[in-house]
Amino acid sequence: MRMFSCGFALVAIALTCGSQVLAQDSSAAQPEAVSASSSTVSTTQTVAPAVPMPSTFNEVVDRVVEREHYFLAQMRHMHPMVETYLQDLKTETSGDVVPVNDRYFLGRLDMSEGPEDTSFMGQPGFGKRMLAKLTGAYSLHYLPLGFAEMVLLDTDFQKRYYTFNFVRREFLGEVRCLVIDIDPKSGQRTPRFKGRIWVEDQEFNIVRFNGTYSPQPKSAIFFHFDSWRLNMRPGTWLPAYIYTEESNLKTGGLTRSLHFKAQTRLWGYDLKGMNKNEEFTQILVDSPQSVRDQTDTAADASPVVAERMWEKQAEDNSIERLQKVGLLAPPGEVDKVLCTVVNNIMVTNNIDLQGDIQCRVLLTVPLESFTIGHTIVISRGLLDVLPDEASLAMVLSHELAHIVLGHRLDTSLAFSDKMLFPDQDSFERFDFKRNPADEEAADAKALELLKNSPYKDKLGNAGLFLKALQERAPDLPNLISPHLGNRIAVGKSIRMQDLIASAPALNEKNLDQIAALPLGGRIKVDPWSDQVELSKAKPVALVSASEKMEFEITPVFPYLTRLGSSADKVASTTPAPAADPK
Ligand SMILES: [Zn+2]
Repeated sequence: MRMFSCGFALVAIALTCGSQVLAQDSSAAQPEAVSASSSTVSTTQTVAPAVPMPSTFNEVVDRVVEREHYFLAQMRHMHPMVETYLQDLKTETSGDVVPVNDRYFLGRLDMSEGPEDTSFMGQPGFGKRMLAKLTGAYSLHYLPLGFAEMVLLDTDFQKRYYTFNFVRREFLGEVRCLVIDIDPKSGQRTPRFKGRIWVEDQEFNIVRFNGTYSPQPKSAIFFHFDSWRLNMRPGTWLPAYIYTEESNLKTGGLTRSLHFKAQTRLWGYDLKGMNKNEEFTQILVDSPQSVRDQTDTAADASPVVAERMWEKQAEDNSIERLQKVGLLAPPGEVDKVLCTVVNNIMVTNNIDLQGDIQCRVLLTVPLESFTIGHTIVISRGLLDVLPDEASLAMVLSHELAHIVLGHRLDTSLAFSDKMLFPDQDSFERFDFKRNPADEEAADAKALELLKNSPYKDKLGNAGLFLKALQERAPDLPNLISPHLGNRIAVGKSIRMQDLIASAPALNEKNLDQIAALPLGGRIKVDPWSDQVELSKAKPVALVSASEKMEFEITPVFPYLTRLGSSADKVASTTPAPAADPK
């Protein structure tokens, strides 16, 4: 029986590039090997409770309410990115549930005056203004802000509004929690949370809540949701994931019932800290050095070198800006895994390029990859769904081909003023699309590179992935709509079409054939620092074909840890925050 594999089992080849620290064996693809320098581990800021531990359930509830007010105050200063990806579902006559359409939203949350958000998708402002402009049940009820709102239990959380019932103690990951059912007292008009909360038993922060808001108003619909928070700062648990699902929701005004599942993710909480310190170090260490290496003398740059430096400047500007916005993950371990695959292709093809090739991860879900100068960028969603290393090599080889063929970056990006724009305009300001001729040339070159690579015998898998994508693409228009690069699939035509010919027939019922993986399984994002790493989840044998869930959204079950604890990756990869925001 085939297993889901979450880490790419890397083929490693003799590496030419000396300056890059590349993964040398398959263990490097394992998250366990991703050991950040222990010097950055925070001085274990275990926050001692300032007040004595509550001794009765009543006192516990008081603490929970108090901590939730503190949480709300914190959230007013936070401006995380919020991304919602939704799939409309249909039950087929066979009983299988399949996505038939999808929706996508990306914005930045601003709760300084209640939940608000700034859209990156070129949509007008949200909230009431938006309501007036939209028509149709879906538009109305899938208002993006509605999903962002599910980070909140209640903007006015008071003990007197609710009945609290202790259920049991339970571990979520390594965090012991009190499980409490809460129900709004009757006779209230304001919709309030109804469901279950998980409260960690040291400081009594809510770490998960699962339910809906009640009563349902006439003009809107509240969905059911499962909302998770992670311990990102000492004493503070911030929203990271929300899973929403409705199977047969029919309310007044709707012509048909709603059947969908959606995942909302938040990240980019620490944009301020990240931009100042880390990038300052990078500029000091990297840029001047590489420039000096190229010139080799104390003379002015030759025309060719000057042109290269100019292109590098455009590349560096764009990458720095994308990272600042919160769209690009900071350099990290996953980049090295990607670089190893690129190197495997380069070495076997005797490619020697001027300047190193870098790989970076775009933090968003839509499937896309593109190049910015000599940097290959691949989206989190695409990394998630690629079933194996050969498929990854297929995606990377296309981008490498653009670089090998000398396809240029728009050098106007070398001018600094081009980087000065509001964050939400990023998708308009940046465009790394190639013209059709360049795309075709890159496909042809990529095939040539792959046929001469360690992946040459496994290209059937890559073709199978493309076949599966081709089949699902019409039902997932938003998943295949890139924001910065070219489309992988346009209608029925798909990138690297020639690989499909060599692929076996798609067989959805065959458990041994995994053409693509579900979304969210491979790449783990640290919502505080935006660092990405490969997921630690162990491979699982599939019981039925319905568990394949290719390209699909699934529920989220993060393994909760406390900041500073041994199992905590957040503290080991990011410096401890200096102080609480006031
Ligand atoms: Zn391309």
